[in-house]
Amino acid sequence: MKIIAADVIVTSPSRNFVTLKLTTDEGLTGLGDATLNGRELAVASYLKDHLAQLLIGRDPHRIEDTWQFLYRSSYWRRGPVTMAAIAAVDMALWDIKGKAAGLPVYQLLGGASRLGLRTYGHASGRDLPELFDSVRENLEEGHTSVRIQTSIPGLKAIYGIASQEQATGERYDYEPAGRGAFPAEEDWDTRAYLNHLPGVFEAVRNEFGPDLPLLHDGHHRMTPIQAAKLGKSLEPYDLFWLEDCTPAENQESLRLVRQHTTTPLAIGEVFNTVWDFQTLIREQLIDYVRAASTHFGGISPLKKVMDYAAQYQIKSGFHGPTDISPVGFAAQCHVGLAIHNYGIQEYMAHSEATNTVFQQSIRFEGGYLRLSDAPGLGVELDEEAAAAHPYQQAYLPYNRLADGTVHDW
Ligand SMILES: [Mg+2]
Repeated sequence: MKIIAADVIVTSPSRNFVTLKLTTDEGLTGLGDATLNGRELAVASYLKDHLAQLLIGRDPHRIEDTWQFLYRSSYWRRGPVTMAAIAAVDMALWDIKGKAAGLPVYQLLGGASRLGLRTYGHASGRDLPELFDSVRENLEEGHTSVRIQTSIPGLKAIYGIASQEQATGERYDYEPAGRGAFPAEEDWDTRAYLNHLPGVFEAVRNEFGPDLPLLHDGHHRMTPIQAAKLGKSLEPYDLFWLEDCTPAENQESLRLVRQHTTTPLAIGEVFNTVWDFQTLIREQLIDYVRAASTHFGGISPLKKVMDYAAQYQIKSGFHGPTDISPVGFAAQCHVGLAIHNYGIQEYMAHSEATNTVFQQSIRFEGGYLRLSDAPGLGVELDEEAAAAHPYQQAYLPYNRLADGTVHDW
């Protein structure tokens, strides 16, 4: 079997997605997700202008060889653009291999290790009553664990609050990237945040009891010692995890956090390779791997990093909001179903418009994501529907402090 075409499809049903479609001489096709929120066209160009011609004539069954060829032959390694492009190729090849074998990809990865994938949903509110309603909605939808994000008194706009009004006048809901030619500016104050958050978790525990697993995303906005202080102050509320408590370009900074708190830590949604996790896993500085198949080079490296993490009893918690397309989401769900050290899957349903372009076979039922027996990844792309939603420029917001300093968003 040979690859005869490599097409890049950019579409924007509610939000932008970049998809690679590989076609073989036997008529099989494979899909891969290359969506990099806010920088989509850079990856589309990497695929169209640099990778596509290298794939023509290759045997699609040689997944590992193709991955190594694309990674090593570029000379310039790592980075989100390169790794999202390689991810799309890797996923598309697994999709083809599954279709050729007549098996879902998780069967090729060792078979199912569980019946379905436990999820967490996103709850948020500008005040406690709104937050409590949002938690209840998540529980009614079937989530058995809930991420808690809250407004901070004195701050106008911060990450993760669905009811917050955007500069466009629309609800923030599930997509922080705003369409337009310049990113929206939000504000931040770490001291106000650290003072406000423990009281919110105390109120949520009082309302919902001790058993509901609660998560929180710090979104890289604290220094290591501030992150340590937050982890410690949240210990009475028994979090399932504290996510992205500090930026981790310097992996050693997590040592300092770990010395001070037993709150479980999750990190890695902006990581691109296993090397970004090397110190964190080897020194057991984290509890959950937050990588996404789409930004991490695909299914092959995601499986490898989880096998490495398994030696240290570190589990998966893959990044899964809607900036991962249904193709990338399916790819990491196949990994999650197959590995033994599965933890939890972040899950946010895609919009109706997205689901008309991408037909998904994963179902969310009884609190679990259930994968079908469809061969390959189990996602089909309607190219005509995709063409009806042309690309629209969009940017994620950024933060400034009260004195005007740019801060991590
Ligand atoms: Mg996050």
